[in-house]
Amino acid sequence: SGKKKCTRLSGALVKQLLDSVDSVLFDCDGVIWRGDQAVPGATQVINLLKEKGKKVFFVTNNSSKTRKMYAEKMSTLGFNVREDEVFGTAYCCAMYLKTVCKLEGKVYLIGSNAMRQELEAVGIQQTGVGPDHICGKQADWANVPLDPEVKAVVVGFDEYFSYMKMNRAFQYLTQQDCLFVGTNRDTKLPLEGGKAVPGTGCLLLAVETAAQRQAQTVGKPNDFMFDCVASKFNVDRDRCLMVGDRLDTDILLGSNCGLKTLLTLTGVSTLADAEAHQKSGCTERQGMVPDYYVESIADLLPALQG
Ligand code: PLP
Ligand code: CA
Repeated sequence: SGKKKCTRLSGALVKQLLDSVDSVLFDCDGVIWRGDQAVPGATQVINLLKEKGKKVFFVTNNSSKTRKMYAEKMSTLGFNVREDEVFGTAYCCAMYLKTVCKLEGKVYLIGSNAMRQELEAVGIQQTGVGPDHICGKQADWANVPLDPEVKAVVVGFDEYFSYMKMNRAFQYLTQQDCLFVGTNRDTKLPLEGGKAVPGTGCLLLAVETAAQRQAQTVGKPNDFMFDCVASKFNVDRDRCLMVGDRLDTDILLGSNCGLKTLLTLTGVSTLADAEAHQKSGCTERQGMVPDYYVESIADLLPALQG
């Protein structure tokens, strides 16, 4: 359509947009919280949306928590949220292996205990979680014992990532029928004060490079994250808004799924980034141009309180 994109959302336009949707999907980090602190005004926005009868969901690429852990973090911060409204990549990855891959067998897991719990909750056993340091002689590394029941290598956020884990994944992945799945490709995790640490995408790229294979990824911008929500709840794409701070994950997911999109400037991407995509004239980059932007989701408050 010829509709103007990347419009600042303010005044009467806020109510107009909210009236045009029944469901709102929120990214978490950089949108409703930053690290352990809620974005000012975010709890009121979420709670008021729900009071007004909107369906509210949370979609995060962070694989280090179970849905239950997210629900607990959210209630501590004052959000009125149920566990089944949260869609993290630990949970969605387990659902993906179960429902899309129809995996029969175990997972070699490079990931967290949270991922292990979500896998076990759908009846998938894993091996690999926890520290795995180098041992023995280099000649033995190519002969590490492999579990014959392993039928998939899964890579998520793993603070114990090591050369030996990469080697084990490599050995499993030389079997061509072994599935290869990653939670997400975010390469940079921004922290407070302009600092950052490497994200899961870096670990996944290391394993992909070693194995000379491409993993399928579950997280945003893959439609699967939206499908997970839509298959559990009645979500009408035409009346759904995706709110995020990253153009290449959140906004692209929204565009891919035909949702309305809202960029908030409390996180990673800037207005200049969005405008650069728009001005590039490059068709593939238009999916990363949001319909609207706000400085913070607190900008939605006046329309909800009025
Ligand atoms: N992955 C990890 C391991 C993280 O810690 C974070 C943010 O804290 C993310 C991904 C990005 O999460 P989100 O999709 O909520 O922005
Ligand atoms: Ca984010």
